[in-house]
Amino acid sequence: MKCAYCGKEAKGTKEHIISRAILNLFPECYLTFDGARHVIHEADPVVKDVCEDCNKNRISYIDNYAKEFISRYFTRKYNENDIVEIEYDYVMIQKMLLKYAFNDMRSHKEDCSFYDKEMLYYLMNACDNVPKENVTVLCGLAINVSPMPDAMFGNLKLRWCKDPFFYSNSTIRNIDYETGQVFLNETVEKEEFPDLKFSYLFRFNSVQFLLLCWNKNSEKIEQNKVVLKCQYPYYLMNANDKKAVIPLCTDELNYHKFEHIHVRWDGLFEVGLMRKYASGGTYGYKESYEKEWIEEEKRIKKHPR
Ligand SMILES: [Zn+2]
Repeated sequence: MKCAYCGKEAKGTKEHIISRAILNLFPECYLTFDGARHVIHEADPVVKDVCEDCNKNRISYIDNYAKEFISRYFTRKYNENDIVEIEYDYVMIQKMLLKYAFNDMRSHKEDCSFYDKEMLYYLMNACDNVPKENVTVLCGLAINVSPMPDAMFGNLKLRWCKDPFFYSNSTIRNIDYETGQVFLNETVEKEEFPDLKFSYLFRFNSVQFLLLCWNKNSEKIEQNKVVLKCQYPYYLMNANDKKAVIPLCTDELNYHKFEHIHVRWDGLFEVGLMRKYASGGTYGYKESYEKEWIEEEKRIKKHPR
């Protein structure tokens, strides 16, 4: 086997698509739902094309950062009134997401030409700390603002998908405030970003990351970043800020229908608020269900991974 990172002929070792250290933060999520292959299995998602040296020594610094970062802020759930400020290392966030996307793409035997020598060098060398200009990352808080408890859809705390659907406009055309009737916008087109090679969406419990990888030397990146920043309820990460308060990025629909990236002005945010006020400002059944679920999870956590 040829190692996906160093290119040397060697025996392949199991490389977890999402770091094992992160999976271990969520022992209650021990099943893998593989939508692409239509199977559910009781094992971690892995690829087996990385040599022992790369896996254990060269790229493991990325996993260490990922574990530290996710466990610091996102093993707990938040509600919509919480203010969550994070401190982050932009280079390490880029590397973490690039690595996971690369692992996932190889596991589906997809075109990995984006990961050229320069990109692999970036991932394999902790001292290469100049962020890649043709990689953009946004993040937001994933908060279940819907009346439906998480566990109804499976225990999907860790999720990822390639090429999520970026809406170009609101999914709702208008709301009749007299009757409460909601009119859908039936023909919302997908936002197309020039020179986008691929994108990924990741959820690690209460945080979501969007990773966008552009053609090298593209002149459209700055323009695309303006669209991303203005159009979507996410925070655009960068090398200068170091600290940020991250916004809520989910509404009552796309918290569950994960692959849909709704615009910042999507009427669903308002519909969600109206629904909640109409229910007296709280979702009592959901809250009591979730309390019970915490107890159930304590039992599930004992299941061996
Ligand atoms: Zn290697």
